[in-house]
Formats: sequence, structure tokens, C-alpha cells
Amino acid sequence: MSKDGDRPQKLETKLITGGRSKALTGPAVNPPVWRASTHLYDNVAALEASKNQSADARAFFYGRRGGPTQWALADALTDLEPGAEGTMLYPSGVAAIACALLAVLRPGDVLLMADSAYDPSRSFADGFLKKYGIETRYYDPVAGADIAQYFCDKTRAILLESPGSLTFEVQDIPAICAAAKARDICCLLDNTWATPYFFTALEKGVDISILAATKYIVGHSDAMIGSVTANKKYWNRIGQTARALGQVLSPDDAYLAARGLRTMAVRLRQHEASALKIARWLESLDGVARVLHPALPSCPGHEFWRRDFTGSSGLFSFILNGSKAKAAAIVDALELFGIGYSWGGFESLALPVHPEKFRSATHWPAENGVIRLQIGLEDTDDLIADLSQAFGAARPIG
Ligand SMILES: *Cc1c(COP(=O)(O)O)cnc(C)c1O
Repeated sequence: MSKDGDRPQKLETKLITGGRSKALTGPAVNPPVWRASTHLYDNVAALEASKNQSADARAFFYGRRGGPTQWALADALTDLEPGAEGTMLYPSGVAAIACALLAVLRPGDVLLMADSAYDPSRSFADGFLKKYGIETRYYDPVAGADIAQYFCDKTRAILLESPGSLTFEVQDIPAICAAAKARDICCLLDNTWATPYFFTALEKGVDISILAATKYIVGHSDAMIGSVTANKKYWNRIGQTARALGQVLSPDDAYLAARGLRTMAVRLRQHEASALKIARWLESLDGVARVLHPALPSCPGHEFWRRDFTGSSGLFSFILNGSKAKAAAIVDALELFGIGYSWGGFESLALPVHPEKFRSATHWPAENGVIRLQIGLEDTDDLIADLSQAFGAARPIG
């Protein structure tokens, strides 16, 4: 927020100052881990009075409503999103997505979801939501303003994810949100790839911005956290649903995320520079058919990335001129890159991926191998040398 209501702070500054109010952290620089379940009241009158306090009040009530360590993190995340009313925290990114969808949907509603959405988001919709009478329909992530052709009387919400998981299509979010707003349809965005540092979602028309804070916010591959930041219209519903479902983040994990957040800008700028260097190097290889990176002109929706984002992070994919067996052989031959799910930590990771398994509204050709890379903070020459030797090792495979 602006100091004295005049000069708005830059995001780099907000990452440092956010949530560090003296009321929450005391004299310490970092919010200390404040562990408690039970609040002991002085007397029955104090106990009764506490029942009237707002659930949003930064006053300790009971552990399930969080304490100073969680509030400091929530406030810091809210501060990064102009137009935000508040942030709820969850024990994983998937919990955040599930609770946000449950907060805005009712039986009989139709949810629209980008066909390139994160696979567990699809599973939650097609499995859990379906059982509760909520239908999900998938749309082509390049739809833009044509999203309106997917609307029906029952369409209540759109779950956007931009760029898409695995394939990185960038969506025209302002156009989609404008079309949705005209029909009072709620726009939720999984903003994990960009974070508010590279894409301030609510300013672009999104109602509810969701992060797997497990990734870049924590940044060190050692904690699981989800967050939901909402505008005024949806904030109460988000809070009520999270409380009804008993969602609470441990103070230890909140502490790790708040600690990670302070260095996120410098980490992301390095992830960006290193990933771009490696993406361009891959583009020059005969063995690579296509690099799927939002900051490269060949990426579907690149023009929207240029218009709406202030940077690109460290995760992208590439399609081989070769088989899935070749992709597996390259990943197996890598020495510096780990093989593992998740991303956003300081270390590089590689994964063969299969987008065709998670598509229903669009077609993804299944023949060629696709590898997703998370570029960490190692030296890029070392990473390129590792990729180079892995391509060499896999040369005999077609
Ligand atoms: C990892 C991820 C999630 C889920 O986060 P978890 O903390 O692992 O549950 C959600 N969305 C995207 C885009 C992700 O990559």
C-alpha cells in the first residue's frame, strides 16, 4: 500500500515491507514462529466478547483461525495485489484451488476450465465437483474474447491458468475477464507460474488469484503452501469456505514462506535470465522441434505475455524431434538436473511430460517426446553442458 496515501511502492519494496507490522512481528525483523492452538481467556466475559470479533480481526481466537505468523504472510501477499481485499492460506496449492472453487460454485453450476490447466485441477473438477452436481467444460486456452461462445445460463466461474501447465499457452486474460464480468461470471486464475511479481492478476480483471506458494514463494523446495487472494466481491465467501472446511496453515510453514518471499524478486530475475538463455540455446538445436516458453515469439499467446506480464519465470517445456523414449533417455542421462515433480526451488529439475493425457477440448499430438525444465540458480554454462551431454548420450535413440 502507498505510504501516506501518495507514492505507491514498487513490488520489489513491497516484497520487503509486506506483513512486517510491529503489531504482528514485535521488534524482530522476521515474523517469529508463533505456535498455539488454545487461547486462554481471563474470564467468561472476555471469552464471550471474543465471539463477536470479526474473523478477519488480527486478534488471536483459536489456532484454526491462524496467528501472527500466518497473518503476516497473508498480509504480505495481499499487499502485492492491487485491488485485493484479503488472502487465505492453505496447506497446499491444490487445497487452495479446491477451496476457491467450492467458495464460488453451487450444485447446478457450470465451471469453465482452460484445457491446459494443471492436471490435479482437472481431476478435482471431473471427480469431486461432478459428484456434487457441478459440471466442468473445457475451453481452448487461446480462446480470448471468444470465451463468450462457451457461456451458457449456468456458467458461474472460469478457472484460468496462464501460461498453461506443461504447454505454456498464454491467455488473453483481460479479454476473458471482461467477457465474464458482463455476465457476472467469476474469474479465478492459477497464477503460480508468474506470481504477482510478474503478473498482478486482480488489476487485469481477475476476481480470485490462486498461488501454489509451494513453488516460487517458498522457493527452497521444503514446504507446501497454497494461497487465495480475492477482491472485495468474493473475499467473504473465500474466508467462510476456508473456515467451514477447517483450512489452516502451520506457523512453521508460514514462516518459511514469509522468509522466501523477501528474496523472490532477485530469485525470479535470475530464474528468468537463466531459463531464457537455456530456452534460446535449445531452440538452436536440430534435435528440438519447438521450445514452449512464453517469452519466445513462437509460443502461442506470446503477444499477451508481452502486453500483460513484466517478466518470465524459470519453467518451460520443449518438444523433441524424437520419441517419448528419447525424452526419457535424455532425462535419465542428466546429472545436474533432478527428476521430480514440483518446481520453483533453487535447484534445476527435468521431467518427461505427456500433455495429450490431460486434453479434452483441444488436440495435442502424442508422438513426440516433451520435456519440462525448471531452471534453478546453478550456473547456466554448467546446465547447458549437462543438457548437451544428455542429448549426446540419447543420440542412438530415435
Ligand atoms: C504445483 C502446482 C499446483 C499445486 O500446488 P501444491 O502445493 O503442489 O498442491 C497448482 N498449480 C500449479 C500450476 C502448480 O504447478
